[in-house]
Amino acid sequence: MKMNSSRVCKIKNIRTLINLVRSDEVGWFEYQGKAIFIGYRNGVDGQGLNRKQRLYKRRRSQGLCVACGKKVEGENRATGKPFKLCDEHRKKSTKREQ
Ligand SMILES: [Zn+2]
Repeated sequence: MKMNSSRVCKIKNIRTLINLVRSDEVGWFEYQGKAIFIGYRNGVDGQGLNRKQRLYKRRRSQGLCVACGKKVEGENRATGKPFKLCDEHRKKSTKREQ
């Protein structure tokens, strides 16, 4: 069996490394004798959230339905927080749960 490690690119200097990290390049590279993986942070912000989670968080904090983005009426009496789903989506999800 052949080892598939021949695709590792050697990086000669730090500038190339920085350019690679900033680019959309994904894969294994070798820098100063160490194997490093570049590109795994794509689409993830400093809090470790991806785009979908950010959208969810934003809608949640603005009191919008996390499914469709509509303004949510009413709040959860148990937590005092606005519902995370609008009437329409809340009906759908509670029906499924019961
Ligand atoms: Zn909705």
